[in-house]
Amino acid sequence: MSAPAPVLELEQVTRTYGAGDGALTVLHGVDLVVRQGEYVAIVGPSGSGKSTLLNLAGALDRATAGAVRIGGHELSSFSDAGLSRLRATELGFVFQQFFLLERQTALENVADGLLYQGVRRAERRRRAAEALERVGLGHRLDHRPAQLSGGECQRVAVARALVHEPRVLLADEPTGNLDSASGATVLALFERLHTAGTTIVLITHDGRVADRAPRVVTISDGRIVADECVGATA
Ligand code: ADP
Ligand code: MG
Repeated sequence: MSAPAPVLELEQVTRTYGAGDGALTVLHGVDLVVRQGEYVAIVGPSGSGKSTLLNLAGALDRATAGAVRIGGHELSSFSDAGLSRLRATELGFVFQQFFLLERQTALENVADGLLYQGVRRAERRRRAAEALERVGLGHRLDHRPAQLSGGECQRVAVARALVHEPRVLLADEPTGNLDSASGATVLALFERLHTAGTTIVLITHDGRVADRAPRVVTISDGRIVADECVGATA
C-alpha cells in the first residue's frame, strides 16, 4: 500500500528574525513531512522554535529560506491575500487563547469559520451545529462564551477550526489555558478526531500527549532532534 499523500511539507526551512548584527535565526533548515491522517505532537523547551515552525506550516508567516507546501501548493508563490485564502480553506487553527467573540453564541462563533467560503447563512448554521455535535457540544449551541467552561470554549474553537473541513488541524498549546481535567477532555477530543480521520499537528508541553501521540517530533534550538513514531502498531 502506498503512503497517504503529504498534506504539509517543510524542506530546509529557515526563519531568521531581523537583519544585520541583530539577526536571530530561530529555525535552522527544518525538514518535516506530515501525511494525511497523521497525528503529530511537537514538543520541546520554551523558546525552541515550536510556534515559529507551526506559524510557517500554517502560512501565518513566511520562511526566510526553504520551501513550505500545503496540499502540494508551494507557499512562496502566493500573495498575502492568497495565503489568507489558503488558510481559510485548507487549514484549521486552535491556539492557547480561544479567540471567541463574547457577544456571539457558540453556533454563531463556529458559523463564522465559513464566512470566507461564501456559504449562505442557513447552511453556515446547519454546518456549525454539525461541527458542535462532533465536539460534543450539540446541547450548547445557544450559549455564549461566558456561559461555558474553559474546556467547552476550547471545544467551540476546535469546532470553528473544523467547520470548513480543513486538510489539517494545527494547534499551538491548546490545553495551555485549561485546568488539568478540561485539558484532558480537549486532548481526548483531538484523539477522537484523529481516529475519525482528521490530520492533526499539535504543539504541547503536556507530557500526556507526548506519551500517547502516534508520532512525536522534538525541537531543540530551532532543529528537529527527534522524530519518533511511538504509538504505531505493527
Ligand atoms: P516556542 O514556541 O518553542 O516557545 P517560539 O517559536 O515562539 O518558541 O520562539 C523561538 C525563538 O524565536 C525565541 O527565542 C523567541 O524569542 C524568538 N522569536 C519569536 N518570534 C519572534 C519575533 N517576531 N521577533 C524576534 N524573535 C522572535
Ligand atoms: Mg510557542
